[in-house]
Amino acid sequence: MAQVQIRFYEELNDFLAPELRKRAFDHDFERRTSVKDMIESFGVPHTEVEIILVNGRSVDFSHIVQDGDRISVYPVFESLDVTPLIRLRPEPLRIPKFVLDTNLGRLARYLRLLGFDCLYENDFEDAVVAKISSEQQRTLLTRDRALLQRRIITHGYFVRAVRPRLQVPEVLSRFDLYRLVAPFSRCIRCNGALQDVDKATIEDRLEPKTRKYFDTFRICTGCGQIYWQGSHYERSMRLVDDWRARGQE
Ligand SMILES: [Zn+2]
Repeated sequence: MAQVQIRFYEELNDFLAPELRKRAFDHDFERRTSVKDMIESFGVPHTEVEIILVNGRSVDFSHIVQDGDRISVYPVFESLDVTPLIRLRPEPLRIPKFVLDTNLGRLARYLRLLGFDCLYENDFEDAVVAKISSEQQRTLLTRDRALLQRRIITHGYFVRAVRPRLQVPEVLSRFDLYRLVAPFSRCIRCNGALQDVDKATIEDRLEPKTRKYFDTFRICTGCGQIYWQGSHYERSMRLVDDWRARGQE
């Protein structure tokens, strides 16, 4: 029987059983194991981990754990300078693109409202979501830890908040997206890009009142949905302003 001492830092504790949080604890093991598999055996997805120190030295996920190792596991650092250490995950994807698992439909619509590229279908299978994330270099957003533990996922995030309106600011600050918010540039329904369209071109598709009171329209290049600044727009804009205000707190 071999034993290590292990400690998880900061928000990685969210994933642990309460008695293991915020302290170093001993862990017995028998089989040869990588540090990645050991970390995930505690329910912490590898996509959440940024740095692993073993006996004070940084190692990558493939490190084989030895008897007596002292293991420290750190999440993404927002501001500390960690350049001398091995970063386990590739650099952040430059243009943020997401794929969301089936439980996060409302979040997908909200993020599209803010202009972010979000693939989502309510019948995506887990395997499909994982494949899209890997092949299209899209960050996977999910509340399913098992999904994040799939080996092909390199960029993923476990969304903590349960309520969609609170999930939005969580994702915006985690990925530093506030400066990239571009409301009403993307179709909420299908994720297509919106572009301006002449009223004359689409006039026959408008309800009489809309035709009478509005002159500026945008159209989705994907599904043809028409957008204008009606009452729905105003409600949405209040949400957008609310989220933006949180970014300045
Ligand atoms: Zn559309």
